[in-house]
Amino acid sequence: MDYLPIFLDLRGRKGLVVGGGDTAARKATLMLNAGAWVTAVSPDPLSDAFKDLIGTDRLIHTQAAFRPEHLDGIDVVFAASGDNVLDQAVHDAARARHVPVNVVDRPSQCSFIMPSIIDRSPVMVAVSSGGEAPVLSRLLRARLETLIPAAYGRLAALAGRFKQEVRSRFTSTESRRKFWEKAFLSPISEMVFSGREQEAEASLKAMLEADSGAPGTGEVYLVGAGPGNPDLLTFRALRLMQQADVVVYDRLVSPPILDMCRRDADRLYVGKERDNHAVPQDEINMVLVRLAKEGKRVLRLKGGDPFIFGRGGEEIETLREHGVPFQVVPAVTAAAGVASYAGIPLTHRDHAQALILVTGHLKDGTMDLDWDMLCRPRQTIVIYMGLKGLVTLCDEMKKHGMPGTTPAAIVQQGTTLNQKTVTGTLDTLPALAAQAELKPPTLIIVGSVVSLHAKLNWFHPDVAADDHWHTPLDKPASLGI
Ligand code: SAH
Repeated sequence: MDYLPIFLDLRGRKGLVVGGGDTAARKATLMLNAGAWVTAVSPDPLSDAFKDLIGTDRLIHTQAAFRPEHLDGIDVVFAASGDNVLDQAVHDAARARHVPVNVVDRPSQCSFIMPSIIDRSPVMVAVSSGGEAPVLSRLLRARLETLIPAAYGRLAALAGRFKQEVRSRFTSTESRRKFWEKAFLSPISEMVFSGREQEAEASLKAMLEADSGAPGTGEVYLVGAGPGNPDLLTFRALRLMQQADVVVYDRLVSPPILDMCRRDADRLYVGKERDNHAVPQDEINMVLVRLAKEGKRVLRLKGGDPFIFGRGGEEIETLREHGVPFQVVPAVTAAAGVASYAGIPLTHRDHAQALILVTGHLKDGTMDLDWDMLCRPRQTIVIYMGLKGLVTLCDEMKKHGMPGTTPAAIVQQGTTLNQKTVTGTLDTLPALAAQAELKPPTLIIVGSVVSLHAKLNWFHPDVAADDHWHTPLDKPASLGI
């Protein structure tokens, strides 16, 4: 983070703008809107852009050349003269006096920079690119403008009128937050947006009176996070990620996805690696039960789809046994995501009419798979967790009648910027994979569809992401049960 976003209370405070042109007028207007007293310093008469402001008793024109004394008692200053030498002098004088200063369009001479603003007062959204790409933040602002109904401010004002009452009814921050989330997600918001404010007020009052504030049973959201690229999350996953109180996640959930969870949610890492079950599955199951029984909304976030090699079934069986309510949110499973991004259609009329998903997880050093079934023609086999057993896998398939020339691929960290695809045949893939020094997670695809990769490969990122999956910073949680 290059800048700390803060909101400044300027009501009744003093702002200075150096310059009398259009840019200065815009900065003066902003400060006036925020309730400040504003002095504009310029030796010349103020430009026409100030016309609307003249007559505001909070605007004073000091018709003089800037002197450092003009900064006496000033809380914030904009240098907007357009004269580089003068603006630099304003900057230096302000810095010497520790007055926050912004030299318009010169981020290097600013102790604070101005964001693009979406004003739904009292709701304010500020967007900044840290001075790197102001046009980009303006475009983003335009998008947000269309997303945030104009009546958002009225909704916030309604909440403001009930703030004290809610505070006295619910003593803990947690219970207040839950009440407000329930209220904002209820039809009350829509009432305000459609201009039925009295009805909204009556409903909010009724909701407040009906709510005892006692914590109910929580709920577990078993949510698939997809194969790693945050763009592939479902809307439902995102919505639940943003309202959960605690997030229980494991190794396959990438940090960019975790970042999209509610900021103040507690996080519990229960990561698992092959051959190293950091937290035993039944302990994870019981943690979910305990957290939900404390009244929390628990997000159990899993890589890919929770019901495909995700042990999601076991987790919700335990929840059901303990009477804990849950929902399951499906997601793009690794086979689907990785194959799409590697340009390998899993079925194709000329190649494969069936698709088999298997796990190559080694059990007692051997692979416990139905080889005859896997080695039938005209089908595609996708092997999850198969890297360690790749040699065995290729050998067994050949032993069971699959030609050594059958195309096969292994894909590292599919769908992310670190995606790497190695293609070969059952004969060549193990050596090629070893040479490529692949990082987990990897997925193996076997079948003639793999030959289409050469033609259909479309995803060519040329920047790398952090190698987040290989070296998770998180230490497995101590679960305290
Ligand atoms: N529930 C998950 C699978 C969990 S098993 C799902 O539906 O995708 C973990 C295995 O999934 C890994 O060992 C790897 O084989 C595969 N996998 C998950 N994400 C992957 C990715 N982005 N790229 C390659 N393989 C991936």
